[in-house]
Amino acid sequence: MNSNNSSSENSTWYQLSADEVLQRLGSDFDSGLTSSEAERRLKEYGYNELEFKKRSALVRFLLQFRSALIYVLLTAALVTAILGMWIDTFVIMLVVIVNAIIGFVQEGRAEASMDSLTKMIVPECTVLRDGKRSIMQARELVPGDMVILEEGVRIPADLRLLHARNLSHDEAILTGESQPAEKNTDPITNPQASPGDQSCMAFSGTFVARGAGQGVVIATATNTEIGKIASLITESTQAATAPLMRKISEFTRVIVISVLILAAINLILGATFGGYDFVYSFLASVSLAVAAIPEGLPAILTIALASGARSMANKNALVRRLPSVETLGSATVICTDKTGTLTKNEMTVVKVYTGGNEYTVTGTGYTPKGEYLQGDNTINPLQNNDLTETLRAGLLCNNAKANHSENDYQVVGDPTEGALLVSAIKAGLSADGIIRLDEIPFESKDQYMATLHKGNETNIIYVKGSPEKVLSMCQTQLVNGAIEPLNIDNITHSVDKLAEEALRVLGLGYTQVPTDKKSLTAEDLQNLTFLGLQGMIDPPREEAIEAVSKCKGAGIRVVMVTGDHARTAKAIAHNIGIPTENGALTGEDLSHMSDDDLYDRVEKVSVYARVTPEHKYRVATQLQRRGEIVAMTGDGVNDAPALKAADIGIAMGIKGTDVSKDASDMVLVDDNFASIVAAVEEGRHVFGNIRKVILYTLPTNGGQALLVIGAVILVPFLALFAERLPLEPIHILWINLYDAVALALPLLWESREPNLLERPPRDPKEQIANGLFLRRVGVVSLTMAAAAFLIFYYYGNSAVSGSSVDESRLTQAQTAAFMTVMMVHIFYLLTARSLSKSVFKMNPFSNKWITVGIAVTVALQMLIVYVLPSVGVDIFRTASIPAHWWVLIVLCALPVLFVVEIEKQISKRLDRQHVQS
Ligand code: ADP
Ligand code: MG
Repeated sequence: MNSNNSSSENSTWYQLSADEVLQRLGSDFDSGLTSSEAERRLKEYGYNELEFKKRSALVRFLLQFRSALIYVLLTAALVTAILGMWIDTFVIMLVVIVNAIIGFVQEGRAEASMDSLTKMIVPECTVLRDGKRSIMQARELVPGDMVILEEGVRIPADLRLLHARNLSHDEAILTGESQPAEKNTDPITNPQASPGDQSCMAFSGTFVARGAGQGVVIATATNTEIGKIASLITESTQAATAPLMRKISEFTRVIVISVLILAAINLILGATFGGYDFVYSFLASVSLAVAAIPEGLPAILTIALASGARSMANKNALVRRLPSVETLGSATVICTDKTGTLTKNEMTVVKVYTGGNEYTVTGTGYTPKGEYLQGDNTINPLQNNDLTETLRAGLLCNNAKANHSENDYQVVGDPTEGALLVSAIKAGLSADGIIRLDEIPFESKDQYMATLHKGNETNIIYVKGSPEKVLSMCQTQLVNGAIEPLNIDNITHSVDKLAEEALRVLGLGYTQVPTDKKSLTAEDLQNLTFLGLQGMIDPPREEAIEAVSKCKGAGIRVVMVTGDHARTAKAIAHNIGIPTENGALTGEDLSHMSDDDLYDRVEKVSVYARVTPEHKYRVATQLQRRGEIVAMTGDGVNDAPALKAADIGIAMGIKGTDVSKDASDMVLVDDNFASIVAAVEEGRHVFGNIRKVILYTLPTNGGQALLVIGAVILVPFLALFAERLPLEPIHILWINLYDAVALALPLLWESREPNLLERPPRDPKEQIANGLFLRRVGVVSLTMAAAAFLIFYYYGNSAVSGSSVDESRLTQAQTAAFMTVMMVHIFYLLTARSLSKSVFKMNPFSNKWITVGIAVTVALQMLIVYVLPSVGVDIFRTASIPAHWWVLIVLCALPVLFVVEIEKQISKRLDRQHVQS
């Protein structure tokens, strides 16, 4: 055995014949490696995984300095250093570094939690070992492993193909070629063939676009083609560009520019007409900028989205792109699959129609116990030729396997096929000893599957699929064992009848062909004989019914998009609570409709049946054209365009293909519709909290800015303000530091308001600077500035009389104003915990992080004011204030609480009027 896996050897794999490859790798086509050999090789080659290059911690830290605020601060630090004002330089640098560290840590945490979420989607593959097929983690693959390929899977390692059936691969990530590349098993002679030309190879990271096959692993991990270039590409980092993020950063830019202009004016005014010394005025302008620019917001938003993603994961919804957390919260339409998502996907055949008669099948689930009834009489199906043949077709044209033991009946494979398998076993049929020569696998867009079997006098082809499809292939039908002309009307009537009972209906057909026919193509499927129909129930998931009704209350439309028959779809939609009074559109209808026609109908119709993935794409885009925010589920290879087009593409974790997962924004671990709704609710929760943070941060920033500018404007009127600002620049820097971390951040852990799903979705076009926001900024800024002015004036005015100035008294007055601003922050924070609910109706300690944040803020403030100066550290330029001053401070700070409460009530009333009109 050749155990050398060096890259020079790799390049020759595609030149070798299949036998030589197997010999070199010491593997076997039918049984693969033994597990002991695989274990040994795993030790030798290591795990089959790639480490993508991450931005290094240093780079991430340095990137924190790329912000307008930091530039302002660094300039200030430079100026103060040149002037030799070392304390100021020191404090400013402290602010810079603390800001960077906070941003760095928060971003790191967000990135790490997204990382662990994406890792929960473990790549798996189907492998032959010890002669048995099993599904295992792709990281455990070793060279020599035999990998089974089917439509939609991601190739887990580099493979030399040994079997290929209609196989073509999407290799865009490797070659940039968007057309799937056809694959076969023939060796290539050209020793210089590029990966794109190596048609007998399958490369790690590419996808099977269609067909099926088998290949042997020739290289894993960094020895694969993608592994060789992986060191050149960095994994696409989750660039956080949620719509809200974008709005925030645009908004911040506007603020930054206006603040810088304002600060410049402030500097000039202050230094000339305010009579401050230039340096003081400069520092005041810098602190004005610091006060007004909400630089902490983006980091807080990232944290909010990441923690939302984590709670969604606990509810079986894995978010793959951070911004989707926000988008989910604003979803207005959910387009969902039926089978397996709204229903349980545990199918049981209950009706069989054949030869003009209808039979009932008893029993539930996959337990192979049940009887066949005609009317009320039990019959033996094996004594009825038509029935036997219909059931046999379902048994043989089938890839599901029964795993039946004593009392545990399981089916491995497609549930639709499982049901057909069980109905045949109930009748006593068995597939043992029957040889299958070829197969046309089921593809959703073709709606059928066909198989070719070896017989004695003739070979035989079976087809099963949607009744329409199968009927279109048939010319005759089986009646009482005789072949008669096809009576389409009768059969279609029966299909409709079964479908209206919410049954999934499959049609079956067959034909005999000469024994020398060994392979099957679509052209062979003509002139078939129709055998019968099997109708199966697929009970709705109880949680889905509940979730659909929740959506109704939340103003979210649920639209069913299914490959199933229109009548079945409507019947199930009705049972689940999806409106059907506007009828259903079928794929057939859609293909006759222009996009504009569809645009007109899409708002009313909630059931789409017999659709292909291309139709899904059209439904999603027309809904979007109407301004809807669309969530769309999908599982197949061809669903990728629809998943990408939708605002939130949702892939199925269990039945979904790797391709669909790759194209999605979110993966449903349990394939369950209810999990989508839970994620939407969580999205709304996160958005609500983000809104709280914004509504807290911006008004408080505004208040501080107003304080600085106001003081400069008041200079000509009050001598006091000519002496000093109400807050020292350093105070403002400090307030900004604790504000974002200790006070605003804890709002994210505000528990969910109970009625999140009882309100309509928020308007996606809504601006940040809406009415509520502007009112809040105005009201809070004014109240805060007024409180601080009042305190400063009350305690400071007496310090200035004529030319004599009591400097220490002024410092005390400033300290009092400093404390007032802190108290206003705290009082405002308490009411900011809910957008509409009154603070007096909330448990003040229900969010422990708020309590901790406030405690830390107050403790540090006391340390600065009372403790530091007494040990001779006076960087904050404060002085202790008499205890009785606190009475007035609290009295002046308290009004913000009541003012905002009143404003909440008025807003509520306005909202109600708005809704009524
Ligand atoms: P859905 O699962 O939403 O019904 P699909 O695209 O999977 O949609 O299936 C479309 C139709 O193809 C089904 O309604 C059924 O008639 C038929 N079909 C489904 N599964 C199979 C299968 N394994 N073999 C043959 N026909 C099938
Ligand atoms: Mg299906």
